[in-house]
Amino acid sequence: MAEKIKHRLFINNTLKLNNVVELEKECSHYLGNVLRLKENDKIRVFNSLDGEFLANIVKVNKKNVSVKILSALRFPTASADIYLLFSPIKKDCMDFIIEKSVELGVKTFQPVITRYSITDKIRSERINSQIIEATEQCERLDVPLLQEPKDLQYILKNWDQDRILFFMDERGQGKSCCDMFLQFKHKKAAILIGPEGGFSSEEAELLCSQPFVVPVSLGKRILRAETAAIASIALWQALVGDWYK
Ligand code: SAH
Repeated sequence: MAEKIKHRLFINNTLKLNNVVELEKECSHYLGNVLRLKENDKIRVFNSLDGEFLANIVKVNKKNVSVKILSALRFPTASADIYLLFSPIKKDCMDFIIEKSVELGVKTFQPVITRYSITDKIRSERINSQIIEATEQCERLDVPLLQEPKDLQYILKNWDQDRILFFMDERGQGKSCCDMFLQFKHKKAAILIGPEGGFSSEEAELLCSQPFVVPVSLGKRILRAETAAIASIALWQALVGDWYK
């Protein structure tokens, strides 16, 4: 019955049985004034560390809402260890990449500034609330991490050598995605997607010279960045990720 409870809220406080949690302003506003929930209404609350719980609304007023933690529903579980490195693109396409990649199980987002990136800034607060909203909707327990934007050279210099970086190479020089994802299925993985303008030849050369980089192709058509991101993450999850585990 508890799983059928529609409203599911990410709460950054510690969630412990029988605790009463006073919700932050935004959460209180959402439950009290938007959803107009009342005392004794039930919701589900979760976070990455504690898992998911059934909760009862014990206080509702204009300013804040408090809930009592009733019972544990799910233990914390992490998504497969896949990072998405993407170059900031125009707003609505970026919204699309973020929302769909959360649903597809990306664990960490790393914005990358490249030669043809249209901007070197991202609106972290806005993206983080999009991430939380998508996490709540898709029944995930772990909230993906959003890193600060870094330029490509810096990222390569400081790369975790145990993690394979799949370079989505639109020039068609890459190997088959399926073969490469399967060949490195026991390694931590990251997928790198370029901006609308693609990678410069110097960047492609720099990438291909790194021992941890594997250039891969998504076929002969040129995909939009958001299409390439969704296609490559879906493929990775289906072949080696957590879709069927
Ligand atoms: N404007 C560029 C294409 C950029 S597409 C051009 O016309 O060449 C944006 C990003 O999507 C690319 O940098 C690449 O990372 C990815 N991408 C697009 N099509 C791809 C393909 N067929 N194979 C691998 N990656 C692709």
